[in-house]
Amino acid sequence: MKRVGAHVSIGGGVENAPLHAAAIGAKAFALFTKNQRQWRAPKLTTSSVDTFKKNCSDGGFKPEHILPHDSYLINLGSPDPDKLQRAREAFIEEMQRAEELGLLMLNFHPGSHLKEIDEEQCLKLIAESINMALDATKGVTAVIENTAGQGTNLGHRFEQLASLVDQVADKTRVGVCLDTCHLFASGYDLQTAEAAEFTFSQFDRIVGLQYLRGMHLNDAMQALGSRVDRHAGIGKGTIGLEVFSYIMNTTAFEEIPLILETPDSDAWSSEISLLYSLEQ
Ligand SMILES: [Zn+2]
Ligand SMILES: [Zn+2]
Repeated sequence: MKRVGAHVSIGGGVENAPLHAAAIGAKAFALFTKNQRQWRAPKLTTSSVDTFKKNCSDGGFKPEHILPHDSYLINLGSPDPDKLQRAREAFIEEMQRAEELGLLMLNFHPGSHLKEIDEEQCLKLIAESINMALDATKGVTAVIENTAGQGTNLGHRFEQLASLVDQVADKTRVGVCLDTCHLFASGYDLQTAEAAEFTFSQFDRIVGLQYLRGMHLNDAMQALGSRVDRHAGIGKGTIGLEVFSYIMNTTAFEEIPLILETPDSDAWSSEISLLYSLEQ
């Protein structure tokens, strides 16, 4: 089945995320495991971890349907050695938090070269960062998100994602999350079912659909290839509904988290219903 959900709040503690997800009729969810705007976070308490696991199981959420997202502060390809070191430490901590919560994945944006190093050097640093984090942890898969290509962010071409996957030593613990808004903003057309099919076949050819571990379902505010990262509500943006109908009716997208990151959290419950109504 399709596992549609949203990136829900952790207000009051991570243990509340599955409750928020259940309340909107979600069958998957994403969360930050800490305040995403701060480097440091207090350790997760045993009671918080236990309640999180209980609430997940009560809500019918299995670890493979939960896609935690790391902090936006982390740049795993930073050209500055001190900042790179700090990012790597923070990333390992986030992988460890996911592990403590009994989760299997951590979703992150690859990183930015900041015009100080070239693309290839930056990709190499990111891949090294991933390898270090995989060495320092067990069981959690590093899930690389494609980006809109805003500023100097890498990960906006399938070739860049493929290069990262290639350079990761443990192929069993690396995956990709495709964000529809980011795909469209970075120049991959999704406006018709044919365009969507072509885009996902390109992904399959260059990266491999077997690496797809999750999706972010967002419409876009800007035009195809704008490289501007602005999400819109489902069917309310420049992409339109057809790609979402395509996703809801294609078996490659079964049993992976399909996560809304649309701007109006009050609309999530109706967006989830809308997406399920597209199933034929
Ligand atoms: Zn996303
Ligand atoms: Zn985005």
